Amino acid sequence: MVRPEDPRSPLPAPEELIFVGIVRKPHGVAGEASVEPWTDDPASLADIERAWLVSPGEDQVVLVNIASIRAHQNRLLIRFAEIDSPESMAGFKNWLLGVRPAEARALEKGEYYLHDLEGLEIVDIDGNVLGRVDLASEGGGGTLLTVRRADGSTFDVPFVREFCREIDPHSGRIVVALPTGMANLDEAELVEEAPSGRSRAHKEPAPRRNAAEIRIDVVTIFPSMFTPFLEEGVLARALEENLIELRIWDLREFATDRHRSTDDEAYGGGGGMVMLADPAFRSIETIRDQRKGRPWVVLMSPQGAVFRQEVARDLARRDWIVLLCGRYEGFDERIQVLIDQEISVGDFVVSGGEVPALLVIDAVGRMVEGVVGCRNSVEADSFYNGLLDHPHYTRPADFRGLRVPEVLLSGHAENIRKWRKKESLRATLRKRPDLLETVELDEEARGMILEIDTEEGFDRDGE
Ligand code: SAH
Repeated sequence: MVRPEDPRSPLPAPEELIFVGIVRKPHGVAGEASVEPWTDDPASLADIERAWLVSPGEDQVVLVNIASIRAHQNRLLIRFAEIDSPESMAGFKNWLLGVRPAEARALEKGEYYLHDLEGLEIVDIDGNVLGRVDLASEGGGGTLLTVRRADGSTFDVPFVREFCREIDPHSGRIVVALPTGMANLDEAELVEEAPSGRSRAHKEPAPRRNAAEIRIDVVTIFPSMFTPFLEEGVLARALEENLIELRIWDLREFATDRHRSTDDEAYGGGGGMVMLADPAFRSIETIRDQRKGRPWVVLMSPQGAVFRQEVARDLARRDWIVLLCGRYEGFDERIQVLIDQEISVGDFVVSGGEVPALLVIDAVGRMVEGVVGCRNSVEADSFYNGLLDHPHYTRPADFRGLRVPEVLLSGHAENIRKWRKKESLRATLRKRPDLLETVELDEEARGMILEIDTEEGFDRDGE
């Protein structure tokens, strides 16, 4: 047993610590640290509550409390309670992460790390699969497993022996015996409920471990518009695998009057309805309270900067974004104080922010590591490197006399690479020559453009 220590006790000397990793760089906007683990068993760090950062020369030691820790590829992403921005995190580049040996303890039998429970299949005694653990969190009432069903909805199971009969991270499942109705609570949880007074207090989310790559909250008066879209394809899988965590909030739940109004007439007349500031403020405030850090709040608006691949990429680098969808004439201008960025999906007006928000979710979602199965296919996509994608062909090789270009059938990797690069340039030259004004071309590409010019019989400089 270790004795509880006086927090004011002198800092340990570096030799009293075991070094379990090294801070490589800041990660994300909230100032997480990307740490290269030096231990064979990074999982043993999962319930460390504090650590010491030791400068490269071992002449400075700083005590830090660990707010969250999660694995990401072969790094650990750690949020330190005292460090909340990438700028302050950058000051700790190459500092060592030390822990007291007694605190990096091994698990005892029957103990589990929360992140090891996440992803396990929940199976009933008869072997029926009820869902998969989406989140294991520590709350006031003990550990709670949030289980996501195949249809995307969720229910909660307290992590107690009474309900969780067999826990086997190795075979990837938990056998449960649930009281009738428990798995049917919280129907349609894809739509988050607004807080109703005090009753929610016990549901305060615990610090997340092994959180999704990105969390997206959407605020809309039409939550059901999102559901069908999220149940199919790449996005559905990303949600199921918890690469993206998505919450759709019904703005009406934040209205304060009996009619649950979210809009009113415009001052100054003119007929159009304007979305009220108050429900929007309340929704954003509630979302902000969901977890630590600060979400990046985006207003869907035709007045925003036009949504392009770079914008999607920048958003995908954030760990938490909120998309606010307007209707009618849009929101009362005073909500601008909440907004970090306005995004337009193009120079036209549609009747609501929902379809634009879905476009953003889709484009951003694809950029999140792991969402699109084969990473290469994202990297070859149009706009990824500033050019349009090359043409694609599949079987049969001869379709009604139209043949697939011979080089693609050759199996010659280098020739195929060159063909694709050149055809990507050709497509861009033909369809979107404006893109070539900003993109940086290497020598090979410049040579290919000259070839294309000759082949197509035009002279780009008009000479
Ligand atoms: N009167 C507003 C348009 C309101 S359209 C104006 O001219 O600026 C209603 C809502 O649809 C907007 O609040 C916005 O959320 C959404 N919307 C409409 N066109 C959009 C576009 N091109 N991009 C993103 N959102 C758009």
